[in-house]
This record gives sequence, structure tokens and C-alpha cells, in this order.
Amino acid sequence: MEDTSRLTRLYPMVQIKKGIWEIDEFDMASMYLIEGAERAMLIDTGMGAGDLRGAVEMITDKPLVVVHTHGHIDHTGNARQFEEVWIHPADAHMPMPESLERRRSDAEHIAQRQKGSIGAPYNMFHLYPYDINVDLRDTTCEPMPVVRPLSDGQRFDLGGRVITVYECPGHTAGEVVLLDETDRMLFAGDALNYNLLLGAAPLETTLSALKRLRDMADRYDGIWNGHHDFRALGMPLDDDCLENVIAMLEDAVKGNLTYCECPSFWGQPIPLTRQKPGHETPWDRMRATTLRRGRNFIQLMVDEGE
Ligand SMILES: [Zn+2]
Repeated sequence: MEDTSRLTRLYPMVQIKKGIWEIDEFDMASMYLIEGAERAMLIDTGMGAGDLRGAVEMITDKPLVVVHTHGHIDHTGNARQFEEVWIHPADAHMPMPESLERRRSDAEHIAQRQKGSIGAPYNMFHLYPYDINVDLRDTTCEPMPVVRPLSDGQRFDLGGRVITVYECPGHTAGEVVLLDETDRMLFAGDALNYNLLLGAAPLETTLSALKRLRDMADRYDGIWNGHHDFRALGMPLDDDCLENVIAMLEDAVKGNLTYCECPSFWGQPIPLTRQKPGHETPWDRMRATTLRRGRNFIQLMVDEGE
């Protein structure tokens, strides 16, 4: 077990209702803790800054079920703090965690971005009680947790709270959402963010998965996603978010793609190409087609390489 004594546990967090918390990893990602009578579920493990397990254990001493909504860098970063994690098999090939170098680059980008968002004349690293040089660390030498496969319709009984898993491919191939029917809350990971990057599944597949979520709208009162960039901490997404994404995808399926500048909420363009010439990756062949509706925008990744 790593020495966690130097790591921060001071994550901003909000208790949404009795037994349910949103934990904010310093604007990098949102994680959720759902406490049942017998077990607690942790949804996602962030970019891997700070002592997430320690923070969770300050709230609950129940045995933990750790579930990843998908395999991206900012959702699996602290996975190795736990003995066992669940993820969909289609995302199980992704590194858990990504390299320290890559996570640091993303962490710095997000800190800069949020600073632009609020127009703060200071460095956001000093706004939050974490030290990027200490709290964001290389854990790749630590043992991998046991990785268990999530499947569509799978249910986790936490004791008085049952959480059901639904596949929702698009943002990644193995993206899932989690429905807490007792509390009428849907935890969506990155399946329908305001700024949604799609391209990991055929558009028709993503569209039908999102329509299924709409069809079950009588079973939840709100949708909480994996980042709180465009909503207050603890608050659900705007009610029209799912509808907007479905409408945009229907448009795209019909072939009504509108090429436009990648919009920015942060006063600076969002870089889509990250590599220097001569170091191209498959990512660099991709062009993002952006569709907008209201506050939502989705980027469809189109491979122009072949
Ligand atoms: Zn993601």
C-alpha cells in the first residue's frame, strides 16, 4: 500500500442527498459516492490527484464497489488505490492509469482552462488545496486491481439502493451509465456531456443508446455527468441536454453535418491536434465536426487518414 500521508483529501464535495455525494477532483473530473446499508459504490476514480480512497473513507466505512463509467484518463486515474474495479470490457484495454506525463499535461490544461472560464487573475493551482508535484503521482509500479467486467442490465445491490448498469457506447466503446432507481438519479459518466466527443461507435448505435435513456426518463429526475464544467457542483445537467444531443445526432445520421469552428467556453481554442509534425498518431488524422444546439455541442470525430 502506498504512503498516502502527504496526499490531499480536501476535495471539494457536495452531499446531493442523504448518502450520495459528488466529489470534485479539482475541476478535472467528478466522482460520485453512493452509500447503501451494506456497501457503498464509488463511480470513477478521476485523473489520480490526491488520496481519493482516504477521502471516501472519511465519509463511509462500508465495503466499496468501484465502478468506472469508461476508460478515459480522467476517470481511472486512482484505480490502483483499490483492490477491485469494474469496467466495461470494451474499455478494459485502456491504461489504468495513463502515464504521469500525459495526466500532468491534461491537468495543467484543465487548470488553465478553468482560470480562463472565471477570468481569475491568478493560477488555479493555488486555488485548490492540491500540489500537482505531490498529489499527481506515478502509480504504475503499484499492483493492478482485479478488473471485473460490467455488462448491460447488471445490478449492484448496495442494501436499500440498487444500481443498474446500461451500456451507452459513443464517447468510448465501453461507456456505461448507472441508474439509481431508489433516488431517481442517472449517473452518465461522459455519455452526454455538454461538450461531447463522439466517434467510438457508429452514430446509429449511439443514437439508439441515448434514445433508450430518454425512454426511461420516468425512472429518474435528473442526470449527473462526469464533469461539472457547465453546471454547479451537485446539480444535474440542464433538462434539455439529452434531448439536444439526440436531436444533433439525428441530424448527423441524416447527413446534415455542419462544419464549424470548435467553440470555446474558455476564451481560447480547444486544441484537437496535440502532436508535433513527424509524431502523428491516429488522433491527428481525425477531424472534429462540431454540431451545436443551445448550450450543447458535440464533436464527431471523422477519420480522414484513409
Ligand atoms: Zn471521457
